[in-house]
Amino acid sequence: MMLLTETVASFVHTRWHSRRGLDRARFEAWQHRALHKWLTHDLRQVAFYKDAAARLHDLPVIDKATLMGRFADFNTHQISAAQVRTALEADSRISDVTVGASTGTSGHRGLFVISERERYRWLGNILAKALPDMIWQKQRVSILLPQGGALYDSARKTGRIDLGFFSLIDGPEQWQSAIETFDPTVIVAPPKILRHMAETGFALAPKRIFAAAETLDPIDRPIIEAYFQQTLEQIYMATEGLLGVTCRLGRLHLAEDAIHFEYEAVGDGLVSPLITSFRRSTQILARYRMNDLLRLSAQPCTCGSPLRAVDEVVGRMDDCFEFDAAGGAVLITPDVLRNAVLGASIDITDFRLCQIARGKVLLRLPLTVTKGNARGAQQAVDRLLRARGVDAHVDLEQLSLPLETTRKLRRVIGMPKA
Ligand SMILES: [Zn+2]
Repeated sequence: MMLLTETVASFVHTRWHSRRGLDRARFEAWQHRALHKWLTHDLRQVAFYKDAAARLHDLPVIDKATLMGRFADFNTHQISAAQVRTALEADSRISDVTVGASTGTSGHRGLFVISERERYRWLGNILAKALPDMIWQKQRVSILLPQGGALYDSARKTGRIDLGFFSLIDGPEQWQSAIETFDPTVIVAPPKILRHMAETGFALAPKRIFAAAETLDPIDRPIIEAYFQQTLEQIYMATEGLLGVTCRLGRLHLAEDAIHFEYEAVGDGLVSPLITSFRRSTQILARYRMNDLLRLSAQPCTCGSPLRAVDEVVGRMDDCFEFDAAGGAVLITPDVLRNAVLGASIDITDFRLCQIARGKVLLRLPLTVTKGNARGAQQAVDRLLRARGVDAHVDLEQLSLPLETTRKLRRVIGMPKA
């Protein structure tokens, strides 16, 4: 009961501190106070920050390698990465703490620990952002995500929400009839799964649909929206927590009521965020460098939310291509590469573009694309590279691109980092 209260309190807190019409300056003043309180009270409770400064900008920037290398020093229970991995094999619990991992290539998985109280708070936060107007009626929410089962388990206990969790480890033929019987009012799933449902004609009539867990490419959106006859919303989340949710106008707002964002410029108008998670205290994330690439909105959203709007989550740093050119190293971001391929023909609704060597790129297209259009896309990528002063070879291959359920879908894939 105490935990349910935590969910409700968090729901109210989130609604209030990011309410419509709240002035940005007043929001920032509140955030600054909340952040300062966290820096003075919670930060130093973990070994890594025991003697740390209380000013955010005096703290070091932390990357994934540092966090994973000294995992126990970043949480109050001093749980090591090895203990997390052992617990993941069993019930994902260590005393009253839940542990989890992101899907990633083995060895590069992000790990997290979260207390029971924080899980309920997280749930209230996500409900307040995603379903504020729907919470008063009973909802059946289907969650189809490759990870984090233990996190969402808490929703089953709220009474108003009937949660159906479907594992993506199993192919869709394994759960299609189960989800159709469950008849969800809300579906949260990676865009490729929503698109699969649309293209194969799942018998579903949800009131709301959310893309989550993977980059939402512009080619998936119209197919999903046409089938479900509604606007596709977006939940931006990662191992590091809930990072943003779209508003009723369809723009993504960052979860600044729980996370403080700083930005590092990447080029092409994109930024990569450093996050400070000031509402969590079991595992401390301060100035943590995310790999994501965001295009921030130049204008505030007209919905009236004080939270910063993002035009697009473009992908991850690992999706960038890197080349050696006469003038020095050249970095090309995944959105530019994607647009080159898709801009070549409206006939192209799926593709893979991989950098396989310093001077070599491979474009894969489905067999449904005509030879002429395929060659047009190959030439478009080639022109882009030349325009950037890059001398690289673009190979073309046509084959069937199957639905990938055990891995994250990445259409643009950079070279693996050593
Ligand atoms: Zn908005």
